[in-house]
This record gives sequence, C-alpha cells and structure tokens, in this order.
Amino acid sequence: MPINIAIDGPVGAGKSTISDAVAARLGILHLDTGAMYRAVGLYMLRGGIDPQDESRVSAALPQVNITVNYVNGKQQTVLNGEDVTDLIRTGEVSAAASAASKWPEVRRKMVSAQQRIASEADILLDGRDIGTRVLREAPVKIYLTADAEERARRRYVQNLENGDTTPYEKVLEELRKRDEQDMNRETDPLRQAEDAILVDTTGMTFEESVEAIIAVVRNAYGTC
Ligand code: C5P
Repeated sequence: MPINIAIDGPVGAGKSTISDAVAARLGILHLDTGAMYRAVGLYMLRGGIDPQDESRVSAALPQVNITVNYVNGKQQTVLNGEDVTDLIRTGEVSAAASAASKWPEVRRKMVSAQQRIASEADILLDGRDIGTRVLREAPVKIYLTADAEERARRRYVQNLENGDTTPYEKVLEELRKRDEQDMNRETDPLRQAEDAILVDTTGMTFEESVEAIIAVVRNAYGTC
C-alpha cells in the first residue's frame, strides 16, 4: 500500500505551499487536485462555456483531457497536451473552477483520475473532498484552515508578489464567495471528514504549520 495523505481545507489555508513542503520533507509526491479543476475551468472559459451551465459543461467534458506530470518532483498540469501550470492561477480561473466543480460529471472524472494517481505512488493529495471522497481510507487526514481574514491577508500578499494588485477587500470577498460555493454544493461539499485532524494555522508561521502536519503523519505512520 502506498503512503496516502489527505489534506482538505478552504481557500487560502495554505494547502498548496504547506503540502509541497510536507511532501518534500517526507520524500513523496504532492498532487494539488485544485489544479485539475482549474484546468477544467480554463477549458470552459476558453471555449466560451458558462461554467454554471451544467448541461454545456457536461457535454464538453469528453473533450477535456487532464493529466499530471512530475518534473523534478514538481507537478505540471496538462490540458489536452498543453502545459497550463502557470495559466490557471488567475482569479477568473479560480471562479470558473469553483463553478464547474459543482457538477457531478466533472467530479466523477476528476475523482477517478486522482484515485488512479494515488494508487500508484506515495503521495499527498490536497483539495476539498480528499478525506471525504477521493481517499476515504487514507491513514492520515488533515483539515487545514485559518480565519477568513488571515487567509485573505496571506492570499493578498501572495498576489502582490505575483504582480496582482487586487485590493484586500476584494480578495476577502472572492474568498468568501468561493468557500460558500464549495461548502454548499450538493456533490461532495467541502467539510472536515469525521476522522480528520483539525489544524488551524491562524497565528502559526509557515514552518509551524508544516511541523504540525509532520507530527500528525509521524503519529500515524510512525516514521519520518
Ligand atoms: O485548491 P484550489 O483553490 O486551487 O481549487 C480551485 C477550486 O477547485 C476550488 O475552489 C474548488 O471549487 C475546486 N476543488 C474541488 N475539489 C478539490 C479541489 C478543488 O472542488 N478536490
């Protein structure tokens, strides 16, 4: 059985960066499942397909082929043969991903691809439904969160570093809207799995957050 670690949480909880650091410490891969939904969102935007329109999204889905490669241990997200890793980080794509990910057919396709990837490698998956759907049997499940204001602040700073000057209030508003959509959809909404451990990083440094997760993993696997 490969090592499987499930990390879920709301927008801006630091899942991606913290998961990257934890996976590097453990010497395992990290699958950012949000990137796959983002690639679906990008496809819909490019095709002029309203991601809120279930029938159009479902009809387009057979043309959407998403794969993941690892280059020097780093995830590369590929949409129909094109490396879209850097193109899926915009606010527009975030909103489209959140809207498209509501639809059961989208989720079915992504979940089965993620389960196949997880069955083949020692890997940590981060997302919204990893502990509740994708890896229900994972020995380590973490629900990573922080106060909405702190998450928005971190996202705001990260945006500035990438040249995106969206005001803090707008970042907070978009974060709340996306959380609300992700937590209230019918199919596999974001929620803490019953057997997940809550890690609230409000007031914690990045290193402290990484250490908190490593401690949970050590407890479950007894190593590292
Ligand atoms: O994690 P990230 O913010 O990049 O994810 C983008 C969107 O993809 C989320 O807002 C959510 O709607 C969707 N998502 C999901 N299930 C996952 C991962 C992401 O529904 N496992």
